Amino acid sequence: MRLLVIEDNEELAQILGKGLRKAGFDVDLLATAAEAQAALSTTSYATVVLDLGLPDGDGLDLLRELRQRSDPVPVLVLTARGGVADRVSGLRSGADDYVVKPFAFDELVARIEALLRRPGQLLGRSLELANVMLDTQSRETFVDAKVQALPPRETAVLELLMRRKGYVVPKKLFEDQIFGIAGELASNAVEVYVHRLRKHLADKGARVKIETVRGVGYAILEAR
Ligand code: CA
Repeated sequence: MRLLVIEDNEELAQILGKGLRKAGFDVDLLATAAEAQAALSTTSYATVVLDLGLPDGDGLDLLRELRQRSDPVPVLVLTARGGVADRVSGLRSGADDYVVKPFAFDELVARIEALLRRPGQLLGRSLELANVMLDTQSRETFVDAKVQALPPRETAVLELLMRRKGYVVPKKLFEDQIFGIAGELASNAVEVYVHRLRKHLADKGARVKIETVRGVGYAILEAR
């Protein structure tokens, strides 16, 4: 998962880069709002960690712009401005979480992971790709606007994939999210459900494909 960290304090940026890479993320470090804007217009990040006091502008303006063009990327605001009014204005501008400096690194990582796992109300109630739509609340899957019978676990696998369409979803995330409370889990359980889901989708004429990224996980894409 690729993160964008926007932080102009060089020392802190290095600490963030090092720590987040160690936690398993790919990290792009940028120091200005202008650079961040350019990166965000060309790259899809799994999450953005955003400092508010930037040399060429306010991080909140950057955040508002992102939301104005309906970019759903989760944004975690990292700032020294910890007052209630500041936190509220951050959240109102479209931040998904708020961490006040100084912070404990473990907490930051945990918050980022929570954003990545979060059933994204950010992305709305319905998820769409090609001719497939999933209503995340009623748990119904539609292909060409016709409701399809899809068992609960296959639906859960589809949801995780569609929430991160175009990204590789790590196998571990499926295990944690879908089978987390089921206890004993066969080592190929995720594979089995992905296989079943592929078959369901193919049978129903869905124009999507689920690709396997060996040793990493799965990604859903529009079939061409
Ligand atoms: Ca700063």
